[in-house]
Amino acid sequence: MHKTRKTKIQTSSKKIFVIYTGGTIGMKPNDDGAQVPVPKEFISRLKSIPQLLDPELASKHFPNLDENELVLSATGCLIVYKVCEYDPLLDSSSMTPNEWIKIAKDIEENYENFDGFVILHGTDTLAYTSSVLSFLFEGLQKPVIVTGAQLSVFETRSDAVDNILGALILSGCYEIPEVCVFFANKLFRGNRTTKISVKKLAGFDSPNYDILADTQTTIKLNNNYIRKPDTSPFRVNTNLNTNVGILTFFPTMTPSMLELFLQPFDGLVIRSYGSGNVPSDQPELIQVLKNAIDRGLLIINTTQCLEGAVSGIYQTGKILEDIGVISGYDMTPEAALTKLSVVLAYPHLSHQERIQMMKSNIRGELTSNHSYSVT
Ligand code: ASP
Repeated sequence: MHKTRKTKIQTSSKKIFVIYTGGTIGMKPNDDGAQVPVPKEFISRLKSIPQLLDPELASKHFPNLDENELVLSATGCLIVYKVCEYDPLLDSSSMTPNEWIKIAKDIEENYENFDGFVILHGTDTLAYTSSVLSFLFEGLQKPVIVTGAQLSVFETRSDAVDNILGALILSGCYEIPEVCVFFANKLFRGNRTTKISVKKLAGFDSPNYDILADTQTTIKLNNNYIRKPDTSPFRVNTNLNTNVGILTFFPTMTPSMLELFLQPFDGLVIRSYGSGNVPSDQPELIQVLKNAIDRGLLIINTTQCLEGAVSGIYQTGKILEDIGVISGYDMTPEAALTKLSVVLAYPHLSHQERIQMMKSNIRGELTSNHSYSVT
């Protein structure tokens, strides 16, 4: 049930820290006609857009703003936001775990001084970043909203303005204490989100979890789906095990291909067929997986389907459970991979505790009754 959140904050100005990492949202064509991020032009472009800067308000009430600080007023909420542009700006396809950690640390550094955080990001790997941040933050009590655009803010016709504005309003004026993705008038849980289209403006969806808010003519929060604030002290975990990967099952896979692929990993997300199935009539293939599990590899089973969960209803799926493959339930591959990376790097946990944590719902990323608290 959608209803307007009664707890809308009505106090003076809200301070938002905006991290601009790159992506189509700020790209222009280079000499070869290929889209690339352009450094040091983004903030002046934002300043030229009336919805994103109210110069009168700025000069009247905030005469001492820095170059990278802007002011706007929307839906009864006054927002002062500071834009931190990364150097280099990246197409998100080039982003690595180093950038995830940098974003997490920058939020940690600015956590006390701001009411909310917006991350402007390329859309290609946005769902990985929103997922990993949800697992790296503990005790998060403020909104962290990741957004991007399918068309650049430098284009006359672009979704960038709506996406930036929506992310600013939601992070400044509402109590949403979790990592989210805002795109095309919808707010999603960050670790439930996946990119579903390269051409539609509505490029994201969270197929296994209802939206957290929609911002059509009115802003409506879906309160029952928003996480309750975590009351433990805010802490950022910066340890990741990057020896993790994703393998999509395919009918021409052979045991030797699988064996070769598995070698470098400490953890692997498999994307099996349908409700979690792999060929049960190929014992050599299953044996390769079992040998890897016996060596200590954590293998998480997720589905190749966009929607739904893995379950042991078919023999072809049950066989995985029997050899110790961990059910990823309805986790997206992005959430499963990044959670695995965080869980494998968590200090002082036994192998069994890591398995329990992977099965458990730790940040709203999966629908399961297992619970495991990380302290
Ligand atoms: N390749 C771009 C990126 O991920 C696509 C986008 O931002 O829409 O940075």
